[in-house]
Amino acid sequence: MSISENLKKIKATLPDHVTLVAVSKTKPISDIMEAYQAGHRVFGENKIQEMVEKYEQLPRDIEWHMIGHVQRNKVKYMAPFVHVIHGVDQIKLLKEINKQAQKHNRIIQCLLQIKIAEEDSKFGMTFDNARSLITGCEVSELKNIKIVGLMGMATFTDDMDQVEQEFSRLRSTFENLKQHPASNVDLSILSMGMSGDYKLALACGSTMIRLGSSIFGERNYH
Ligand SMILES: *Cc1c(COP(=O)(O)O)cnc(C)c1O
Repeated sequence: MSISENLKKIKATLPDHVTLVAVSKTKPISDIMEAYQAGHRVFGENKIQEMVEKYEQLPRDIEWHMIGHVQRNKVKYMAPFVHVIHGVDQIKLLKEINKQAQKHNRIIQCLLQIKIAEEDSKFGMTFDNARSLITGCEVSELKNIKIVGLMGMATFTDDMDQVEQEFSRLRSTFENLKQHPASNVDLSILSMGMSGDYKLALACGSTMIRLGSSIFGERNYH
C-alpha cells in the first residue's frame, strides 16, 4: 500500500482526540510530501540536524515534533520552528530550551519523557523526578516553555501484558501529575504508542501516537 493509503486507513480508526505524529526519520522528502499531499501536517523526527534539513525544504505549515533524545548544544537549531519537544528529561535541558525560545520570542511546548521500559537504553525521568520538576520553583521561572504532557516508550517485547502494565503506569502518572498545574505546566498530552503497540496505547489512554513504519514502511536503520 502507498503512504497515503496507509495514512487514510490508520486515521479512519483513530478517535478525534488523538493526534497522529507521522515519524519520518530516515525517510526522504518525497515520502513526507506524499503524506503532506494527503493532508497530513504533523511529523516527527529523532535527530535535530535531519529535522532542520527537512524543515528547510518543506512547506511551512508542517508541525515538527522532536521525538528523540535531545542534546543541549543543538537545541538552538530547532528553536525557531519546533512545535513540540517530546524527550525532555532534565531541568538543565528545559532551561536551554527556554533560553533559545526566548531569542525567537516563542513559547515551546515540551513533554517530559518518563522511563517506563525495563531496558536501560530508554531515556526518561522517574515519576518522583517529574513531580519535583513540575512542582519546583525553577520551572515556574521559565517563561518561554510550557510543559504540556508526558511521553513514554514501552519495552520492545512480544509480551503485551508487560507493555500494557507499562502504559497503564504512565497513564496513572499522567493523571497524578495533572493535579499539579502551574503557570507554565498544563498536562493535556499523553504521547505513547508506536507502530507495534499503538492500539494497546490507545486502550490505555494515549492522546498522541508516533507512527513510522506503519505509515512509511520499514526503515533500513534507526
Ligand atoms: C522511531 C520512533 C517511533 C516510530 O517507530 P515505529 O515503530 O516505526 O512506528 C516512535 N517514537 C520514537 C521515540 C521513535 O524514535
